[in-house]
Amino acid sequence: MSTPPQGHAPISDELARRYWEAVAVHGDDPATDMCVHCRRSRCPEWAYAVEQLILADLLNFEK
Ligand SMILES: [Zn+2]
Repeated sequence: MSTPPQGHAPISDELARRYWEAVAVHGDDPATDMCVHCRRSRCPEWAYAVEQLILADLLNFEK
């Protein structure tokens, strides 16, 4: 059994770059604890980008 694990959908560099950008743009402002863009904590844009990066195995939230 040497099949690669399914569930990691590879995404293009361009797409990955856009997700990283979204994470940066929509990240929580440490001062307010809210997205500086949408003015809400962990806004949908941020959550979606993070989810895609995790699915693509580019981001690891486990500590
Ligand atoms: Zn936002």
